[in-house]
Amino acid sequence: MVTVEELFAIDTLLSDEEREIRAAVASFAAQRLRPHIAEWFEAGTVPVRELAPELGRLGLLGMHLEGYGCAGLSATMYGLACQELEAVDSGVRSLVSVQGSLAMTAIHKFGSEEHKQRWLPELAAGTAIGCFGLTEPDFGSNPGGMRTRAKRDGADWVLNGSKMWITNGSVADIAVIWAQTEHEGRQVVRGFLVPAGTPGFTAREMHHKLSLRASLTAELDLDDVRLPADAVLPESRGLGAPLACLSEARFGIVFGALGAARDCLAATIDYARTREVFDKPLAAYQLTQAKLADMALEFGKGQLLALHLGRLKDQGRVTSEQVSAGKLNSTREAIAIARQCRTILGANGITLDYPVLRHANNLESVLTYEGTAEVHQLVLGKALTDANAFR
Ligand code: FAD
Repeated sequence: MVTVEELFAIDTLLSDEEREIRAAVASFAAQRLRPHIAEWFEAGTVPVRELAPELGRLGLLGMHLEGYGCAGLSATMYGLACQELEAVDSGVRSLVSVQGSLAMTAIHKFGSEEHKQRWLPELAAGTAIGCFGLTEPDFGSNPGGMRTRAKRDGADWVLNGSKMWITNGSVADIAVIWAQTEHEGRQVVRGFLVPAGTPGFTAREMHHKLSLRASLTAELDLDDVRLPADAVLPESRGLGAPLACLSEARFGIVFGALGAARDCLAATIDYARTREVFDKPLAAYQLTQAKLADMALEFGKGQLLALHLGRLKDQGRVTSEQVSAGKLNSTREAIAIARQCRTILGANGITLDYPVLRHANNLESVLTYEGTAEVHQLVLGKALTDANAFR
C-alpha cells in the first residue's frame, strides 16, 4: 500500500533540506495543532496570540522574506510549510499567510527602512500580529472601487472608510490599510500602517461563519483616523502594490489547499479500509476505488504543478498568471476531493470526528479569497486571448 504522495514519488523531487523543513512543520502540526483543531473549529476561534510566537520560532512567519529576523528560505519551502499547516486546517495556514505574505510582505516591499525596523522583527517572531485590510463591504473582487479615503490635513493623513473580512483584524497590533489618495488630480491606492488603539480605528470580530471557523475574521472601521505623515508605505503607489502581496499569499495556497486534500484522502482511505458494507470493506468496492483513483490523480497533478511553480518562483521566473492557474487548480480540485471524500464517509463524514467536511467548508473560503475561482479564470482568459472580460 502507498500513500498518495508515494504514488507520485513526490519526495524524489525535494531536496534534503526541503524534506527536513516539511518534516519539522508536520511534527509541530501533529503535536500542537491537530489535537485541538476540531475543538477550535467548533468554538469558532483559534488562539492566535499563543500560536504566533510558536510559529515564529519555527521561522514560518515571513519565511521567504530576507533580513529583519525573517528566515529567508525558498518559496518552495514556504509552500511545503503551508501544505503541512493546511493539512491540519486552512484557518491555521491563513494565520501564517496573512502575517507573512500579506502584512509583512507589504511592509517589506513597500515600507520605509523605519517601518521595516519597527515592525518586521516582531512580526517575524510572532510577538506582534499584523493584518491586511483591502476588501470592503461593497468591493471584494474589484478592490479598485474601494471607498476608503486618505486625505492630507497639513502634514497628517486622515483616513475614513471600512474594511470587511479582515483575517486577524481583531487581534492585530498593526493593520496595513489600503486607501484611495489623491495625487495630481488622480486617485492612487496607497498602503498605511495603522497601529491598534489609534483613535477612530475599531475592529469587530465577525461571527456565525460556517467556514474558516478556526480563524479570526474582523470588520474594521476608520472614522477620522489621524496618522502622521510617515504612516504611508512610501513605495506603494497604485493597486499593483496590494495585488503584489496577494500574489505572494496565493502562491502559498497553491501548495496549501492540496494539504487539505491530502488529509481528506488519508482519512478516507483509512476509513474505507475498515468500514464494512454488505459484508466487505468499502475500500474493496470498484466504485470506491474509482473515486479514490480519480482523487489521487488530481492530487498528484496538482502537487506536480505546485512544485513546478515553486521552482519557477525560486528562479524568479514565475508569472502572476501562472500563480493564478495554480491557485485555481489547487482550490477547485481540493474542494472537489473534500466533497467526494465526504460521500465515502457517509453520515460519519458530516461530523467533526473526521476532518473532511471541516476541510470542505474551509475550502469554500479558500476558493473565494485571494481572488475567486472566477477571477482567476478571467486572468487566464485574458492571458490566452488578450481580451479583458473583467468589465
Ligand atoms: P464579490 O467580489 O462580490 O464576488 C461575488 C461573485 O461574483 C464571485 O463568484 C466572483 O467570482 C464573481 N465575480 C466578481 N467579479 C466578476 C466578474 N468580473 N465576472 C464574473 N464574475 C465575477 N480580504 C482582505 O482584504 N483581507 C483579509 O485578510 C481577508 N480575509 C478573508 C477571510 C475570509 C474567511 C474570507 C471569506 C474572505 C477574506 N477576505 C479578505 C476577502 C476576500 O478577499 C473577498 O471575499 C474576495 O476578494 C471576494 O470578494 P467578495 O466576497 O466581495 O465577492
